[in-house]
Amino acid sequence: MIRKKLLFLALLCSMGACFAQDKEKDLKEYHLNLPADSSALDAKSKEKLTKAFYNIYPDFARANSYHTKKHLSVAFSDSPAITAEDGKLEISAAVIKDLSEKKLEKAIEAALSKNWVSADTIRKKGFQLVFINKNQHIDPAVQQSLIDTYFEIFPVLIKTFNKKTTKSVVFVTDTAYGGVAEASGNRILFSTKYFKAHPTDIDVVTHETMHLVQGYGYSAGPVWLTEGIADYVRYKYGVDNVGSKWYLPAFNSKQHYTNSYRVTARFFVWLEKNVKPGLIADLDVLLRAHQYTDQSWVTLTGKNLDALWEAYSQNPAVELTYSDKAKGKKG
Ligand SMILES: [Zn+2]
Repeated sequence: MIRKKLLFLALLCSMGACFAQDKEKDLKEYHLNLPADSSALDAKSKEKLTKAFYNIYPDFARANSYHTKKHLSVAFSDSPAITAEDGKLEISAAVIKDLSEKKLEKAIEAALSKNWVSADTIRKKGFQLVFINKNQHIDPAVQQSLIDTYFEIFPVLIKTFNKKTTKSVVFVTDTAYGGVAEASGNRILFSTKYFKAHPTDIDVVTHETMHLVQGYGYSAGPVWLTEGIADYVRYKYGVDNVGSKWYLPAFNSKQHYTNSYRVTARFFVWLEKNVKPGLIADLDVLLRAHQYTDQSWVTLTGKNLDALWEAYSQNPAVELTYSDKAKGKKG
C-alpha cells in the first residue's frame, strides 16, 4: 500500500491556535461520534458541527500528539462553555445552533488547544515553522535556539539532500513526552524535560529535521542506516556539536555498523574519507527512491558492507572536526 505523503500547504491561525492544513487529508481515520439521542440538534446544526470537526480536528490531532484520539465523542451540555479533552467534546446544542460556521470552528479550536501555552508561526525566506509549546516553564532561550537552528540548518539540508521536502514544519514541545525528540510527517516532537537538562543540545534539530528530509517511508531500508545517516548529517552539518559535547565514539572491536546512530555515523565519516566521497548522499537518494538493497554497497563502492566494515575495523583512524558555535567553526 502506498501511503499518501501529507503535504502541508497552508496554515489556519486563529485565536492563538494554529493547525496545519494539508491538502490530501486522510479523513477516514477520524470520526465524530454524536450521542445516540442527538435529537437536540437540528439537521443544519449537525451538518455544521460535522463540517467543523473535519475542518479542524485531524490537523489538531496530528499537531497535538500521537496519542490524540482519532474519534471525538460529543456530549451535550447545558453550559455555554465548550470543553474538549481526551477524545470528548462537551458542547451545548444552543451554542452549535447560534454560532456561525467560522465562529464554531474557532471556539472548538480554542477548547481543543487549551493546554497549548502558545502557538506561533514564524516565516523566513520561504520556510515556515509553527511552534506549539505545551510547557509553561520552557526557557525562552531554549525555545529561541530551537527556532534559530531550524532556520539555519533546514534550508541547508533540503538544498543538499532533497529539494522536495516540505518547507512547512511544526515543532511541538511536550511535558508528557518521555523521549528526546521524534519526527513524523512534518512534525517534530521535543521533550521539554530533556531540553531542561540539555539546553545546548540544539543539533537534535539537525538530526530530526534530517528525518523529514529523508522521508524514506516504510521499509525503504534498515533503521540503523536511517539513524546512522541522520547522525552523520548531524556530525557534518550540525551547528554546535562542541557546545553540546556531542562526539562520535572512538572505534572499538565490539562495535558493529548495525549499532546505529553515532557508531554508524563514525563509520560513514571514514567511508566518505577513505572509500567514496558522496557515498552517503548516494545512499540517501536510493533509500528515498526505494531502490536500496544490500547490493547497493557493492555497486557504489565495489565492496559489500561487511567487507567495508572489516576494512574500517582494521584501520579505523579518521580525523574528526566538530562544529563549535563559540568559535564560529563549522564541522
Ligand atoms: Zn533519529
